[in-house]
Amino acid sequence: MSYVVAAPAQVSLPVTGSAGRFPVHRIYCVGRNYAAHAQEMGGSGREAPFFFMKPADAVVPVPAGETGQVPYPTLTSDYHHEVELVVALGTGGTNIAVDDALRHVWGYAVGLDMTRRDLQSQSKKTGRPWSIAKGFDASAPIGAITAAAQVPGIARSTIALQVNGAERQKSTIADMIWSTAEIISHLSAAWELQPGDLIFTGTPAGVAAVVRGDVLEGRIDALAPLRIQIV
Ligand code: MN
Repeated sequence: MSYVVAAPAQVSLPVTGSAGRFPVHRIYCVGRNYAAHAQEMGGSGREAPFFFMKPADAVVPVPAGETGQVPYPTLTSDYHHEVELVVALGTGGTNIAVDDALRHVWGYAVGLDMTRRDLQSQSKKTGRPWSIAKGFDASAPIGAITAAAQVPGIARSTIALQVNGAERQKSTIADMIWSTAEIISHLSAAWELQPGDLIFTGTPAGVAAVVRGDVLEGRIDALAPLRIQIV
């Protein structure tokens, strides 16, 4: 095969305890999946799940024990953190039943759904797409993926984010309005899911702005922590 322009590199993530890497296909994201965050964003906390996407090459892969360098984006003065459980699919399909959904999960990681909140607010007011607020370059820092079999208690894990050592977000995965299995089932009704797909499952309350120099550390029990600095 020869291409008429340079072909893009395959985006991939490190895997805990393995030299192998996880190849990234698409990135799906769930909005408002913790009641307290839905309320802080002006919702009732009882809406059906809704989805948006980020491009695969928005991923900033951060190996365990390292501090990823994430550039402060252009066009915003209200750049927010959203710590989230990221689900990595090993197999795909359409119309996947809830009871069957977790069979498709290869592993889990800690991710940050970085957001240009000011542009998102403008998009909401004008009814325009969220792409510029959510799908910009380097908007998806993600830590190492841990195989699902190694983290059987993930659905009851604590999820937390510290900024410069101070706690900003803390909740439990059990507080998600829509579970991982329910999210996979809903998504697969709208798209054919594929191996390599990632799903950001929503953020707890406490989202706020960060600035250059801030160090963010996201943690979910039993997963590799995600540490980045805004530069
Ligand atoms: Mn989010």
